[in-house]
Amino acid sequence: MDTEVLVVGAGPTGLMTASELLVAGVAAVVVDKLPRRSELSRAGGVQARTLDALDQRGLLEPLLATGDYPTGAGHFAGIHFSPAHFEDRLLWRSVPQVAIEAFFEDHLATQGLHVRRDHDLVGLDQDDDGVTATFADGTTIRSRYLVAADGGHSTVRSLLRADFPGRPGTMTVVAADVRLSGAGQKMSHTWGADGTWAALFPLGTDPQGRPLLRLALGGPNRSLPRDVPITDDELRDGLDTVFGSTVQLEEVVYARRITNAARQVAQYRHGRVFLAGDAAHVHLPLGAQGMNTGLQDAFNLGWKLAAAVHGWAPADLLDTYHTERHLVGVGVLRNVQAQSLLMDWAGTRDPDVLAARDVFADLARLPSVQRHLGDVLSGMAIRYPMPGSHHLVGRPAPASSHEFLRTGRGLLLDPSDQFAKVADLWSDRVDRVRAGEPMLVRPDGYVCWAGDPEELEPALGRWFGPRR
Ligand SMILES: Cc1cc2nc3c(=O)[nH]c(=O)nc-3n(C[C@H](O)[C@H](O)[C@H](O)COP(=O)(O)OP(=O)(O)OC[C@H]3O[C@@H](n4cnc5c(N)ncnc54)[C@H](O)[C@@H]3O)c2cc1C
Repeated sequence: MDTEVLVVGAGPTGLMTASELLVAGVAAVVVDKLPRRSELSRAGGVQARTLDALDQRGLLEPLLATGDYPTGAGHFAGIHFSPAHFEDRLLWRSVPQVAIEAFFEDHLATQGLHVRRDHDLVGLDQDDDGVTATFADGTTIRSRYLVAADGGHSTVRSLLRADFPGRPGTMTVVAADVRLSGAGQKMSHTWGADGTWAALFPLGTDPQGRPLLRLALGGPNRSLPRDVPITDDELRDGLDTVFGSTVQLEEVVYARRITNAARQVAQYRHGRVFLAGDAAHVHLPLGAQGMNTGLQDAFNLGWKLAAAVHGWAPADLLDTYHTERHLVGVGVLRNVQAQSLLMDWAGTRDPDVLAARDVFADLARLPSVQRHLGDVLSGMAIRYPMPGSHHLVGRPAPASSHEFLRTGRGLLLDPSDQFAKVADLWSDRVDRVRAGEPMLVRPDGYVCWAGDPEELEPALGRWFGPRR
């Protein structure tokens, strides 16, 4: 074997996977076909559950120290949430994807893991012992497991002939990084009379310190094939239709057409190969979920692969990656498609759609609805299917446990020193701390036991393998 785990793709998903493997003491190689890191802005926001994951590894503070990243509360279908409903958690943070990639790449490099660039994977073979990846220059890397984090056009997914069901794109919208004058506070969705719409979000500043905005633009007759070049005139015309002459285009830094294709692989696991991030699910970037879902795929998968490499993974542990993350992906695609409809991104001006949007907008003013939708988008609503009837089982562990999860090991909170004897049988994989409420927490911060003391030992075996 050349390495234990080969990670294909140095986007956020691949880098987070590698980081988790290193935490668990597993050798990994990360390859990417690009000669250097992409400087395109893409994702602009980190959700609460991802912030939690970073905090659990002690990476949140160092990441936030790399720039000035404002907080926000996010939106669903353009209807903004009030931060007042989310005071019990970390608020959405506007950290651009480029900053996250740079941070993780540096973080890995300080541990001796340097991304191998110019490595374009073109072939894949797996057998009972491992996976052989072949690159365009004819070289190969042999590993025990392979994580395909190679994005929405995943080569690995194609080579596996993995079923990728869903809906093909039926329209495109423009996503552009721009400088505007006169945009002022127009930081939401605005519709023009003919159904053209524009959405603006702050993207920080350009290298000269001038404010940059993400502009999304669409509507009737504005859905063009992806390969049609985007001109400044096209953007000017759209802005003019929506805002009149009040908003002027100063500069287009970057523009692309994105589609509303919504697909998800039927199986996240193919033997020794695991699909993660955009390689496993593609959808419109609505509600800041794509990168976040990928980062959380990685957080779910990393410790499980490490357990398999270390030889203590229970028989079906690796399969739970599919069970848990496919379910989350289904929910993401569903809410993105609902948002796209409610926002009328296709620009139909269909009265039924507009009526549904009005009714929904009324509902979304209710604090309980805001809270529910905020939980869904931020990942805080996740409840993984697990044995155990206690209401905490399958849910994120409380923030007070984060400081004890830095090691990437399991965690038993045992405030009254009740479980020392049984915990000792797993002490090489699970830390026991006299704090909090009694609960067993997986390395990815999800509660896997609480409540009935009789259920603790079976839970330890189920998630952490045989006793010492
Ligand atoms: C305009 C826009 C706005 C967005 N906004 C948000 C947002 O606010 N919040 C959010 O959460 N998400 C957002 N997203 C989505 C987010 O950008 C993606 O979900 C995220 O990039 C997925 O990360 P990934 O690591 O899975 O894949 P990618 O970032 O696509 O990384 C894949 C990597 O694999 C490499 N690769 C591909 N093929 C090969 C090969 N054959 N061999 C070796 N390497 C290969 C690529 O070079 C690339 O570096 C947005 C996307 C767009 C386009």
